[in-house]
Amino acid sequence: MSTRPVPSAVPVPAVVPGASAAALDAADPLAGHRSAFVGSEGSLVYLDGNSLGRPLRVSAGRMATFVQEEWGGRLIRGWGDLGEGGWTDLPTTLGDRLGRVVLGAGPGQTVVGDSTTVQLYKLLHAACSLRPGRTELVVATDDFPTDRYVAESVARARGLSLVWVEPSDPAAGVTDDDVAAVTGDRTAAVLLSHVAYRSAWVVPVAGIAEVAHEVGALLVLDLSHSAGVLPVDLDATGVDLAVGCGYKYLNGGPGAPAFAFVAARHHDVLAQPVTGWMGHADPFAMGPGYEPAPGVRRLVAGTPPVLAMQPLVDMLDLLEQVGIDAVRAKSVALTSFATDVAGRLLPQARLGSPADPARRGGHVTLTHPRMREVVAALWQRDVLPDHREPDGLRVGLSPLSTSFAEVEAGISAAAEVLAHLG
Ligand SMILES: *Cc1c(COP(=O)(O)O)cnc(C)c1O
Repeated sequence: MSTRPVPSAVPVPAVVPGASAAALDAADPLAGHRSAFVGSEGSLVYLDGNSLGRPLRVSAGRMATFVQEEWGGRLIRGWGDLGEGGWTDLPTTLGDRLGRVVLGAGPGQTVVGDSTTVQLYKLLHAACSLRPGRTELVVATDDFPTDRYVAESVARARGLSLVWVEPSDPAAGVTDDDVAAVTGDRTAAVLLSHVAYRSAWVVPVAGIAEVAHEVGALLVLDLSHSAGVLPVDLDATGVDLAVGCGYKYLNGGPGAPAFAFVAARHHDVLAQPVTGWMGHADPFAMGPGYEPAPGVRRLVAGTPPVLAMQPLVDMLDLLEQVGIDAVRAKSVALTSFATDVAGRLLPQARLGSPADPARRGGHVTLTHPRMREVVAALWQRDVLPDHREPDGLRVGLSPLSTSFAEVEAGISAAAEVLAHLG
């Protein structure tokens, strides 16, 4: 286990064992935001906001206005030339805002567009190009499938070997010592998820960046399960490249565009493989050969998904208003409450997540051999957690749209179902 300090001290509100959901909801300073989300008035229990966030009510209006006034009114004029503030600039202007509000990243380092999978493909190639001559790519055995699959194909295409890092404790995750054990002067890059999608383990980012940099390797971080729910601090922790998802805690809607970050210190020699016209220095010149745009803009490949970016603007407005530290404080309270309620109502299940809230992201996984059946039965009752192989019930807690009462209702329904299964 790592001896390095846990990064980013977070104010942790006390959730005393046995606390009542009603009292916690009544004392919750963020409770009022819940009604801003579509469906929050109903009785459905939504414990999957970490997989697909609920829509904000204002997003429906923003989409309608966009169709009428922007798309319908400006038509082709809406694009503008680079730097004119039109749709063409949205990947970088929205990226800068995301960097400021959510990622702890200064301007000029983040772009929005494409899926997480495609962004990761571009960034892993970019990372390998930044470390020519190195022959190994480090990947975690328990990382999200797309991350492992993309790493496999990038390694194959570039003749690199994958080096797997396996966390010693499945309820926890990769530590800096684990990374130190598999990195060296052959390592081009280390790819890790900031928050593990199963266990919710928060990797010690600054410590791992230090370990990677000591041997000249780069750290590529996947922020899919952290962006919008806990402070990320990309600039302060020395992360080199990062990707993340737009439809989880950023509530951008199904298939919302993802984002990619590359630290400014790497921009001089930054190269990515999908050299489309929209990442060209002068796209509308339609010139003979590819010439990359300056800085992070060159990560843009083709025409940006402008319509799909609109709901992200609404969630960024809300996150900016509330502040990510307050979101994290409620997230810690929700996961602490979930573990307490599970301990009382579901003693047969084991905690598949870190018990220490400082090391735990925004969800809690409870394990039991029959969780697949439990989750299927819960969905029949309009209680929607996730099942994660092999035996996990994943309780996803989206701080601005989840109430403590919802957590208690969901876990007590799981306890009833499990009792019936016998
Ligand atoms: C959700 C998630 C993705 C999603 O990738 P898509 O390209 O949007 O399908 C990727 N990586 C991680 C770690 C995720 O949690």
